[in-house]
Amino acid sequence: MIDSIKQLQVRNSFAELPPAFYTLLPPQKLSNARVLHANVDVALMLGLTRAALTEPDFLDVVSGASPLPGGKTLAAVYSGHQFGIWAGQLGDGRAHLLGEVVSPSGHWELQLKGSGRTPYSRMGDGRAVLRSSVREYLAGEAMAGLGIPTTRALALVVADDPVYRETVETAAVVTRVSPSFVRFGSFEHWSSSPENLRTLVDYVIDNFYPECRDAASGEAAAPDDAILRFLRSVVVKTAALVAHWQTAGFCHGVMNTDNMSILGLTIDYGPYGFMDAFQANHVCNHSDTQGRYAWNTQPSVAHWNLYRLASSLLPLGLDAEALKAQLAHFEPAFLQTYHRNLCNKLGLLNWQPEDDALVDDWWALLHHQAADFTLSFRGLSVAPQNVDAFVNDFQDQAEARAWIERYRGRLALDGRPDAERIVQMNRSNPLYVLRNHLAEAAIQAAKKDDASEIETLLMLLRDPYTERPGYERYAAKAPDWACQLEVSCSS
Ligand code: AMP
Ligand code: MG
Repeated sequence: MIDSIKQLQVRNSFAELPPAFYTLLPPQKLSNARVLHANVDVALMLGLTRAALTEPDFLDVVSGASPLPGGKTLAAVYSGHQFGIWAGQLGDGRAHLLGEVVSPSGHWELQLKGSGRTPYSRMGDGRAVLRSSVREYLAGEAMAGLGIPTTRALALVVADDPVYRETVETAAVVTRVSPSFVRFGSFEHWSSSPENLRTLVDYVIDNFYPECRDAASGEAAAPDDAILRFLRSVVVKTAALVAHWQTAGFCHGVMNTDNMSILGLTIDYGPYGFMDAFQANHVCNHSDTQGRYAWNTQPSVAHWNLYRLASSLLPLGLDAEALKAQLAHFEPAFLQTYHRNLCNKLGLLNWQPEDDALVDDWWALLHHQAADFTLSFRGLSVAPQNVDAFVNDFQDQAEARAWIERYRGRLALDGRPDAERIVQMNRSNPLYVLRNHLAEAAIQAAKKDDASEIETLLMLLRDPYTERPGYERYAAKAPDWACQLEVSCSS
């Protein structure tokens, strides 16, 4: 374990790509930067001690005042489809990659977000406001606690610099941690430049999908086969990711192709949301007036985004039908994770064909009655024994009672002991989720330099399944005022 962030072993594999892939440049200085919170779990993952987080060196690096020793600081270029429309060149408009830490747990890129203008900022100011930074900082840990693939965050730095959005706010910087920040949009960017496209594909396969080069026999695959296998792996990982989102009631909010990780991680937390009252067509992003990224469209949007990724690989001279064939892996991969998660959440031993109808009617019940997503699932484990208590939370109790009776019949087919089933279900249905109003309370405290709410939320969200006496209000339904909270692309 290492006591200073400046002593970490650092590589720069992304910076070894040709110069066209990025611009080397330092972050912009902040005024009165201070670490509001540092994440001990992520620090340990990087091989840093707890003590390292309170060193002045740490603030220097995570505020962007000094480079990561051995690292090359850069902003990467990419493109993308935004809200279904080709947006052309984008890129890290307010992010700086510091380098890649080599630790016993693997290689981790550190990237500052909100760290100032870059050549890819377009009209933006290169900054991120405190509220969106708190939300990003919390989101990675909430997803990790649920076992959902995600980027993480090491530190949240706050500063006095004013940032102009609808009102004047203050700047903050999150240090994000991920094996890679390459996106679908990185491939789309090079679609008209086959040489660079091949370089990027080779880089990603070599570093993150090396198994795609080896055929089942252990022999090296032909280059085209390796690319097809790579695409298939991305299809499968992305499908599984979205299945996790669906069963957690998570809405990403901005599933543009530039916000889709090539590693199948949840990335770029902006106007995301964990649903309170379930609405199948819930849209968490106030800026998404068409509802393109509603909860119930996320799987088809992911598939559309993968189609864009596959299309961007065409200039490599691959057979179009062979590329397209990889997309057919989406549905089975999605259903595999979706069914497994639902089996766990419903306490079923395995998925039976009739369970589709049972689950569809469960979603319909929650939707009709705008029932709380998280608490409805959590309450299911003991619902068959306490039908009256369970249906009490529903407006149309008869509809809820009828469904529970069917569910009870389905459980009887498994013949599983209740006690065992209840324990398993309570490990699959979280009690605590990062509800908007909880994040809002953490934001309000953070504005006063008070990280105590962040600390409490991280403690609960790292293990959201274990009930903790004294924290009842964090497990409660959202208060009425929560529905007035609006999250948008403004961040
Ligand atoms: P997002 O919707 O946050 O994924 O951002 C889309 C693109 O806009 C990315 O290229 C971002 O880097 C860029 N961007 C967003 N906000 C800003 C900002 N305040 N300053 C500069 N670039 C930004
Ligand atoms: Mg983005």
